[in-house]
Amino acid sequence: MNCIAFIQTKGGQATKASLEAAGFAVGIGQTVAVVSGELNGDGGLGAVGITRVLQGAGDLDDSQLGRLVSAAADQEGATVVVCAQDHLGKAIAGRVAVRLGAGLIAGVTVAPEGESYTRNVFSGKASAQITGSTDRLVITTTPNAIGMPAASDGTASVEAFNTDLGERKVNILEAAAPSTGGRAPLPEAELVVSAGRGMKGPENWGLIEDLADAVGATTACSRPVSDIGWRPHHEHVGQTGIAIRPNLYIAIGISGAIQHLAGVNGSKVIVVINKDPEAPFFKAADYGIVGDAFDVVPKLTEAFKAL
Ligand SMILES: Cc1cc2nc3c(=O)[nH]c(=O)nc-3n(C[C@H](O)[C@H](O)[C@H](O)COP(=O)(O)OP(=O)(O)OC[C@H]3O[C@@H](n4cnc5c(N)ncnc54)[C@H](O)[C@@H]3O)c2cc1C
Repeated sequence: MNCIAFIQTKGGQATKASLEAAGFAVGIGQTVAVVSGELNGDGGLGAVGITRVLQGAGDLDDSQLGRLVSAAADQEGATVVVCAQDHLGKAIAGRVAVRLGAGLIAGVTVAPEGESYTRNVFSGKASAQITGSTDRLVITTTPNAIGMPAASDGTASVEAFNTDLGERKVNILEAAAPSTGGRAPLPEAELVVSAGRGMKGPENWGLIEDLADAVGATTACSRPVSDIGWRPHHEHVGQTGIAIRPNLYIAIGISGAIQHLAGVNGSKVIVVINKDPEAPFFKAADYGIVGDAFDVVPKLTEAFKAL
């Protein structure tokens, strides 16, 4: 089976989520990667089993990217197109599916197993096995769910790919990336320290930052915390915020409402710190500490620093 993997790059390197998507596609069949714009060498794609990269023009809008990927799929006779379920992947997957007349399976969480693909449903409370009923398929992979493919020492050849991309329909006047204070962006973070209303106010977030620094984690928060302006909106995780799947999620002073859990219950290990032993979050926790965050968190930070 021939596949196309759409790759998003940063500084000429494929993003982690895109490398996972590329590895997923390689697990399905012979895969050609498609990138838009500059690439540093092969962008790290050879190491995940890609042998050919088609390099399209840079600075494209979502509509043009959809055309680029669809044209590459037609040229290569690809029956499956894979991209990460990140903001760009979400923006182009539907466009590519319409152009190719393909079915779309979004947010796959498990490596390919034959004809069916697994994704979470009902806010992560269950999973569904989905089989495509169309000749061609577009699949998006949930970041941090499938894991990175085993690294190889292969390299990929890079070819210029020119096709009719149509008129640019959207012009970006200004782009400002939220500051993460040098920490990994939340969607890609493997370690996350998150806090809720139990922290009482923004003046107490130093405790959360200190713990995050000691662990090397990114900070997150519950929705009310960002709604009342204690923390920026890009830190809000949950059903209406960012859905994350880190290796470690430390939840401090968060009750564990279903809408919060919907965005974090794919985390590999969940640690809950809450003074209420009846807090619902403990049911989803791998480790729980019943105690006052203002006592527990500084001690935990010191323990991590000592490690
Ligand atoms: C349509 C809809 C969508 C929503 N989407 C989201 C979403 O995406 N993300 C999200 O987070 N929420 C979402 N919510 C809100 C959600 O239902 C909860 O209200 C919210 O998650 C609660 O936030 P919290 O746990 O920080 O606050 P609270 O519910 O107030 O809980 C605070 C917790 O801190 C504990 N605590 C208090 N003091 C201390 C202390 N000193 N030490 C330790 N623990 C302490 C308390 O025991 C309590 O468990 C949504 C709600 C709706 C209706």
